[in-house]
Amino acid sequence: RQSFQFHRTSSFGAKTGRVPVGIGRRRLRLVVTGGAGFVGSHLVDKLIDRGDEVIVIDNFFTGRKDNLVHHFRNPRFELIRHDVVEPILLEVDQIYHLACPASPVHYKYNPVKTIKTNVMGTLNMLGLAKRVGAKFLLTSTSEVYGDPLEHPQKETYWGNVNPIGERSCYDEGKRTAETLTMDYHRGAGVEVRIARIFNTYGPRMCLDDGRVVSNFVAQAIRRQPMTVYGDGKQTRSFQYVSDLVDGLVALMEGEHVGPFNLGNPGEFTMLELAEIVKETIDSSATIEFRPNTADDPHMRKPDITKAKELLNWEPKVPLREGLPRMVSDFRNRILNEDEGKGN
Ligand code: NAD
Ligand code: UDP
Ligand code: UDP
Repeated sequence: RQSFQFHRTSSFGAKTGRVPVGIGRRRLRLVVTGGAGFVGSHLVDKLIDRGDEVIVIDNFFTGRKDNLVHHFRNPRFELIRHDVVEPILLEVDQIYHLACPASPVHYKYNPVKTIKTNVMGTLNMLGLAKRVGAKFLLTSTSEVYGDPLEHPQKETYWGNVNPIGERSCYDEGKRTAETLTMDYHRGAGVEVRIARIFNTYGPRMCLDDGRVVSNFVAQAIRRQPMTVYGDGKQTRSFQYVSDLVDGLVALMEGEHVGPFNLGNPGEFTMLELAEIVKETIDSSATIEFRPNTADDPHMRKPDITKAKELLNWEPKVPLREGLPRMVSDFRNRILNEDEGKGN
């Protein structure tokens, strides 16, 4: 096991006398920061379904109560409006730390706030984990590899990141968050986990968050041209959200610190993605080229050998199966939006 001699385990189950769930495991109390967001809300669904108590901490910058409303009457669920940049006192067994805007449009909106969230927010959650002996999982990102010079990317690659560019608040913020996580592990014996998440899509993504899958799907539904940035030959690998959530839980429950790449190795150019969205939603959909943004990585594809071997995890949902699953959610929300405008 990769933890240090100072390792402590939480004893809140014993203190609170909470009842066991299933056979051989007591009910856990978990925190999900950023739990009102896209990935966080799907993770909360899984953790509540398996019988644990979940406390969500979220400042609703990009998250929505709508994503969690189905849990509001459940006594095992709690929602706290709180900014992770400020300290907080809680008694918990595990912390899934997701709070941070993930879409380039959102994280560039207030770059200093993005850095504060990644650095001070992560520090506070690690301080909390240290105080109560909780396990801590950081959702880092494939962006730590920057515009990669190694392809596909393995966890051993240290990356090619611009420290002073428009994306740096996110890339360097997450790199610092990883550093803090490892320092609390080595220095204070906190039991930690690090996930490096690759592009993920699915229901509940913000409609206008500027990410490529949500943009193309919303544009095709609205019968607008799909906006391809640059020449459209840059590549990404797209993971369906349920695969990611399974990976995060496997990582938290497993014995290994990581970092682990969690992503789907299927690699597509943006032009290929547009073609698949066209086949899925509207065969008459068109594309329109736009200038690309600064420092856009040319290619990205995870090597997931480590997660396969050590977590026994791999994605199950290919892009052509995952895309249709988000379309009805997008259609409903776009319809509601239009009705709200009186259209
Ligand atoms: P999201 O924007 O939908 O969710 C982020 C959540 O964090 C939102 O609910 C937001 O309100 C909350 N938040 C932001 N700043 C906060 C703060 N200071 N205090 C409290 N809450 C705050 O994004 P997501 O796609 O669900 O991403 C979740 C995590 O996964 C992020 O840490 C992101 O960096 C990481 N990640 C996501 C992807 C992806 O493709 N979705 C890829 C790599 C990494
Ligand atoms: N912290 C927190 N909740 C806790 C414990 C700590 O928010 O339950 C914050 C604390 O305010 C500090 C950060 O986590 O800003 C780091 O805490 P740590 O104890 O590691 O460092 P110190 O307080 O000694 O700087
Ligand atoms: N992109 C695009 N059209 C859009 C939005 C994004 O062609 O409407 C491209 C973008 O230039 C990048 C890729 O899609 O090369 C992925 O962008 P996204 O913002 O989804 O995530 P990133 O991987 O850059 O964080």
